[in-house]
Order: sequence, then structure tokens, then C-alpha cells
Amino acid sequence: MNDFRDKLMSLSFPQDASPLEIRVSLYGSLAATGHGHGTHRAILAGLLGEKPPSVDTDRLKSFWAKPLESYLLQIGDWQIPFVEDNIFFDYGPHPYRHSNTLKAEIICAHEVIYRRIYYSVGGGFIESDEDNDKPIPENHSLPYPYNNMEELLAHISSATIDMAAILLENEKKIHNESEEEIVNRLREIIAVMRDSVSRGLSRSGILPGGLNVERRAKEMYAKALSFEENNQIGRAMIARLNAYALAASEENADGNMVVTAPTNGAAGIIPACIEYLMRDNMIEENKICRGLMVAAMVGFIIKDHASISGAELGCQAEVGSAASMAAALFSYCYDEDAVDIAISAEIALEHHLGMTCDPVRGLVQVPCIERNATGIIKAFNAYLLASDRPGNPVISFDQVVEVMRQTGLDLSAKYKETATGGLATQFGWGNMPGS
Ligand code: SF4
Repeated sequence: MNDFRDKLMSLSFPQDASPLEIRVSLYGSLAATGHGHGTHRAILAGLLGEKPPSVDTDRLKSFWAKPLESYLLQIGDWQIPFVEDNIFFDYGPHPYRHSNTLKAEIICAHEVIYRRIYYSVGGGFIESDEDNDKPIPENHSLPYPYNNMEELLAHISSATIDMAAILLENEKKIHNESEEEIVNRLREIIAVMRDSVSRGLSRSGILPGGLNVERRAKEMYAKALSFEENNQIGRAMIARLNAYALAASEENADGNMVVTAPTNGAAGIIPACIEYLMRDNMIEENKICRGLMVAAMVGFIIKDHASISGAELGCQAEVGSAASMAAALFSYCYDEDAVDIAISAEIALEHHLGMTCDPVRGLVQVPCIERNATGIIKAFNAYLLASDRPGNPVISFDQVVEVMRQTGLDLSAKYKETATGGLATQFGWGNMPGS
């Protein structure tokens, strides 16, 4: 909603345009899981001018603790009251091109005087039909243009360049930034990810939302330590990866600060990978930054050719993409070559194909939290399976991305973040513990 607020600030309304009202309508998956995901509170935060990296999450969680509470929005010279009823959840069919659609309007004397339609396409990215005339960066003007993994690998074999350097050189050109500026941003991202893991490891109790899901990261970490004391190294390692993924995912489910990586539902996998590499393998932050660049390239290719949104292609696109990115990150940090990095990303995605999105009650808890834990284990295994693999793989990364897209298109809408299929129906709205 920051974008809508910024647009309103740049408009000049007639002096007699009063009283003004803001109305926000949610459609498709955004409506179906909006309450569970806390979308209504995020809308208010955006209209109040809060930015995702700096928002006070405790304040955000307190929004509409009293349902009738009215908040005063300061938009330029205008003060506009905003209540929960200004947000409409439209659960019916809709005419828009994406399953995550938000319509924001400003109304004066019952007439809409300004409107924008937004599509949330995953990973914090938004699109708007009204922005179609924006210039798109020219791919061919980049130092290392590529459209898929095959073209990316071709640069590496012909120029013997490190995989991360490709993203770095392109980003420098796109954003007109220095290497230092880009790396500093990555360091900030790493810090927020590690904070989310560390907070999650220290907390216990029941997560909000009514499912009575208990936090388990702290206990899982204690188990890892006890396995180590008893020299059960294999169990300990898996318990550590589980604990880190649970920790960040539980923080997300509790509405606390996490990094969208590539989405909030899958926000435990890449932090778990980074925590393991830094805390347990002593990999230096510089190398992690470069590994994150490699993971980002994997994510961008998936986003460009398929999707990273559960609302579009099911959980294979969220947790599958995060696991694929994490597999590439492990492989890069363990010094695998570019071909093996691509193979690891392919294996991780391949073994999430067909996974549906069916969050119980629309909350990002069941199956999402454990799904992050199983996702990080698959990511590590994908790295192992790809490392020093004899012969060429049968399926390439680009092929599996296309298969993921096709599979997602074949999935029924009830498995795309609508909380109307799968686990959500077995333990649904009217089937609550104690109800
Ligand atoms: S089931 Fe998967 S895609 Fe759906 S909300 Fe949970 S983590 Fe996201």
C-alpha cells in the first residue's frame, strides 16, 4: 500500500473534495487467506506510511485489536479516517488476471475519483496494469544478458567467470550501484535473516490464530545439542537445520520481522541455510553474500519462466523455489562448480513438483512451518546428490522450471492458497480444537 499512498500524495484533489474515503478490495487468494496472513493489518500499515524493513511489528500486530477502532491516515494535507470495514474481502470469481489481486480506490461523495489495481506476484513484487508504460530494462544492454540457466552457464564456460560475478556485474549496471553498495544491502538482509532465526530459537509458546500450534524451534535446537553430546552427529545436523528453519518460519507465523525469501511462507529455508553455513560451518559472510547472489539468480529464472507464488502455482512454487535457491547456495558455498550448482537447484525443485498450497485456516502455520523444515533438508540433499555427479543429468534446470509451470497450471484453484482444498478442508474453518 506504500505505492498507493505515494501516488495519492502526488495527486492534487480539489479543495472541496471532502469527505474522502479509501476503500481496498481483495480478490482471489488474497481474499481467501487474507485474514490468516494478516493482510488487513499490512494494508493499514502501508497506508500509514510504514515501510517493510522498519515497521514496528508489535505495533502492526496491535492494529484492530479493537475491531471498530478508527485510524487517521495523513495523506498530504488530507486526514482520512480508516476502519476495518474499509477493506472488502471478495470471495467470489473475479475478472482480474492474477489470483492475488488488490484494488485500491479513493472515493468522494460516493464517486471513485482515483483507482489502482495491484497484483501481488510473490516475493514482495507487485505489478499494476497502470504501470505498463514503464520502460523495461533492456536485457541486451547488460554485461551478461541471460534468459535461462543454459544461457547463464554459457557465460561461465566461455568467460570463466564466477557465477556470482554475473549477477554482480548486471546489478551494478541496472541500479547504477557499486559492488560495496550491493554487498552492504546483502549484509543487511543476512542480518535480518539471522535475527529471525535467533529470536525464533529463544522463544516458546503457542502461535496466534487459534490452531494451538506450539513453537518447536527452541526444543529442536536443544535436541541437536543433546545429540551432539551423545556423538549422534547425523541426527544433530538434521536437527540443527530443522531448528533454524522452524525458528524463522515460526517468527513469520507470529507476524514478526522476516525476509521474504522468496516469499514469506517459505521464509525459513534460506535463513536456515545461511545460519547453518555461518554458525556451524564457519563460512565467511563475504562468501555467503556471493552465494545469495547465486540463489537470487535461481529465483529470478523461476520467477521469470514460472512463478514463486503459491497463489499462482501451488506450494511447489514457494517452498520448491526456496529449496532450489538454498540448494544453489549450499553448492556455491561448498565450492561446487556452476554446472553442479545448476544441477542441485534442479534436483531440489524437481522433488517439490506437484506440491499443493493448502494452508489450514489460511494461516501460514500448517503445513507451512514444517514444510520449511523438510524443504531445507531436501535442499541439503540436493546439494549432496549433485556434487561431483558422474555424467549429465537427464533433466535440466530450465526443463524442470517449465514442468513446474505446467504442473501448476494443471492444479485446481483449490490448491492455490485459497484454503479450500487438501489439508485445509480436513481441518478447516469449522473443525477447530475445542470448538
Ligand atoms: S502451503 Fe506453501 S505456498 Fe501455501 S501458504 Fe504455506 S508455505 Fe506458502
